[in-house]
Amino acid sequence: MLNWDEPLSITPPKPLQPTLPLEDQHGVIGLEDLEMGASRIRVDDKKIINCRADLNQLVPFKYTWAWQKYLDACANHWMPQEINMSADIALWKSPTGLTEDERLIIKRSLGFFSSADSLVANNLVLAVYRHITNPECRQYLLRQAFEEALHTHAYQYVVESLGLDEAEVFNMYREVPAIHNKAAWSLPYTQSLADPNFHTGTPETDRRLLRDLIAFYVIFEGIFFYVGFVQMLTFGRRNKMIGASEQFQYIMRDESMHMNFGIDVINQIKIENPHLWSREFQEEIAHMIREAVELEYRYAIDTMPRGVLGLNAAMFNEYLKYIANRRCAQIGLAELYPGATNPFPWMSEVVDLKKEKNFFETRVIEYQSGGALSWD
Ligand code: FE
Repeated sequence: MLNWDEPLSITPPKPLQPTLPLEDQHGVIGLEDLEMGASRIRVDDKKIINCRADLNQLVPFKYTWAWQKYLDACANHWMPQEINMSADIALWKSPTGLTEDERLIIKRSLGFFSSADSLVANNLVLAVYRHITNPECRQYLLRQAFEEALHTHAYQYVVESLGLDEAEVFNMYREVPAIHNKAAWSLPYTQSLADPNFHTGTPETDRRLLRDLIAFYVIFEGIFFYVGFVQMLTFGRRNKMIGASEQFQYIMRDESMHMNFGIDVINQIKIENPHLWSREFQEEIAHMIREAVELEYRYAIDTMPRGVLGLNAAMFNEYLKYIANRRCAQIGLAELYPGATNPFPWMSEVVDLKKEKNFFETRVIEYQSGGALSWD
């Protein structure tokens, strides 16, 4: 049961002053130029946020990285039902197949990720999409939103395959403190953006959007997913729950691209709006990342009360600091935990961008041939 008395050192985001410039409402929808004979869009007209140009003209491209990520994501299409779960079902049903500690990790992973990917999807379509005023970035966001749906589908598929208690799994974010706390941490970062009266266009509201992007892309998808990813991929490395592990491998591949897209968007917003990246704002972000590392470490302890599968919570203390340093470097912040090392070097073969590319090259062919139409 949820322990509401457990102390939490979380700082909620600062409330916004109700400064909502009316004129900015137009830029959000991008229809103000929908008139006969209006001028055609030029590359220089395009901006990631607060763009006043027509948002219905995908080309000419300005942010080719966004379009390339859209193409890469489409080339890596997969579906949860394509993964064979029969070995997992046999292992799960065997009374001696898994230890109680191993079963706890499987159930907690499904419990956390099932609501987490749903939160990310809702944040994307109900909050972020409206404020990103660039068609090639929106094209990627539409693809990402579908991938988040596929991930939620994958968890449902594993739950159904193993015959788990659906209500127990899908309510863990309300009932298990370590899961609840991560979801509760993230919610305030999406709420004001989802308010129909919220509009970017002032330094304060633009920072609010940037903060939400960092909370979801860098912290939620970039830190909160990683204890679970290591745990679930470890099952596969030990030849256990290979179907579920493979589902998570595909999910992690998608998620690392989501995060890389988000980091590109964040850095582009910084380039176009350098005044937003103030010293005070950087300190606020560093504080958020420290909080996230603490929450994710609590999650590691909760899911691994004892050492299991060659893993233990202390290893994650080091790993999370290592991951946090990487995230800081990716958005231009100083490392928060100098000297932290990676206790799971095998993860970087999948996570590191350079190696990740090799991973794509070796696995993608299967998806493409599995999903392609044959005209013969
Ligand atoms: Fe994602």
